[in-house]
Amino acid sequence: MIRKAAAALLSLLLVSGEVARAATPIARPEAPRSIPSAPAPLSARMAEPAVFPAAPSIAGVPAALPTPIPATPAAIPNPGRVPETPLESLAGLSADAKPEPGARLRFDGARPESAPALPGESAPPSTPRPSQLARTEKVRFKTAVAAGAAAAIAAPVVLQAAPALMMVYTAAAAAAGAGALWAINAVARRAARRTTGPAKNRPRRAKAAMTGFGLLLGVVLGITPLLFSRDIIETGARLVVPSREVRAVDPDFGREVVAVLSKNSEGRKLLDGLRDRFGVLRPPKFFIARLNNADGFSFPVLNGVFLDPAVITSRGWTVKEFLATPEKRGQLAREADELLFHELFHALQFRKVIQPGQLERFPRQLHRYLTVELEYEANIADRLYVHEKLRADPLAAVYDLSNYSLFLDDLDAYLESRVDDSSATYALFAHTESRYYRQVLADQRARMPALSVEGYSLLARRFRSSDPELARQYLEKARRRALESGLAKTRS
Ligand SMILES: [Zn+2]
Repeated sequence: MIRKAAAALLSLLLVSGEVARAATPIARPEAPRSIPSAPAPLSARMAEPAVFPAAPSIAGVPAALPTPIPATPAAIPNPGRVPETPLESLAGLSADAKPEPGARLRFDGARPESAPALPGESAPPSTPRPSQLARTEKVRFKTAVAAGAAAAIAAPVVLQAAPALMMVYTAAAAAAGAGALWAINAVARRAARRTTGPAKNRPRRAKAAMTGFGLLLGVVLGITPLLFSRDIIETGARLVVPSREVRAVDPDFGREVVAVLSKNSEGRKLLDGLRDRFGVLRPPKFFIARLNNADGFSFPVLNGVFLDPAVITSRGWTVKEFLATPEKRGQLAREADELLFHELFHALQFRKVIQPGQLERFPRQLHRYLTVELEYEANIADRLYVHEKLRADPLAAVYDLSNYSLFLDDLDAYLESRVDDSSATYALFAHTESRYYRQVLADQRARMPALSVEGYSLLARRFRSSDPELARQYLEKARRRALESGLAKTRS
């Protein structure tokens, strides 16, 4: 995959190197009709009297040359190309304008065709100079590239196919790609400097084609980080955070996860939230990474869900075995469904461009992105997922039944237990004031009596034959909760 991506990128670089060079030709007129009004600055080397005796007399001449043709053409700085930066002027002079040692001797007195014209012959002022033309084309091309890239970077967010924060990653990766193209182009231009033609006022169609190519190049730059995100993230992480041991998981794992969650009504609700504006399911990508303090982590900047290797090794497999075996990936999707639901629920939360509460009490909560309330909502959702699982089959495999039981007993105690302030994971999390979360919690509290009566009954059925005493306790809890909440009338 990496090889494929590299090959695609390389061919793109080669193509763009050629075309970008065509877009930014070096402005060297074949037959300049006038001495440029502002001659290129002379380098110290050019003014060396020992080599070019006539140079010092020219060096001090003001911008508008009042005198006719200088005595020694070799001493005139090459007027064809007006350098754009001091750096370029130095580089340009040393590379281009250095006259051949015998040039002065070969001069026969006649004005060569390519020699500068007399000042009186200057072109009409309305005609743009080649250097201006080249610069305008360069700016237009760069603008087109930037516009194409911006469109490609913003499109997934506008189409609700990726979290808004992912633009941080795509923009950085696209900028790195553009930087690489620029460097290669600069090297290619330098190598081909002597053979590049003059800047021409291109026909309108050629200009449009150039702009179109710029747009296309920008789109390719912006979309490549998305198309190859698994490889780019894996390779980038290996360079930047090698200790995390980030490995991309085969996309079939994502499909397995979707298949497992689709069997559950809460799972389907979650997956529907991960659809883009065209209804196409856009789950995040899955990775294995050392998280140290957590089993899973949903990271919106990379639109990825990261699972700790412990999730795999606790099943007696190595990470390598897991990555290489489709059956093991399928098994993990089924067995770690609650964890996967929880992390995908965070991915769903991150699809909101603005997090609940961020704009409330403005601007005090503007930076509240990871919040305790975000965790509360995800922890409620994953218990509702378990609840639906038990409704479908009271004997279904449940990873964390004690948490489900606590959730039924006391919603607030359960939520507190899930977001432990002292843990390293939640050190970054702050509480936020938000109408949205107040409503989420209020709705859940209102639902709890009926939900817990049903939940206790499901647990009673689950343990009816394996642990009759436990089953009786759950049944008793169900009866009591029904009475307390007025869901059942006392027999009188
Ligand atoms: Zn969480």
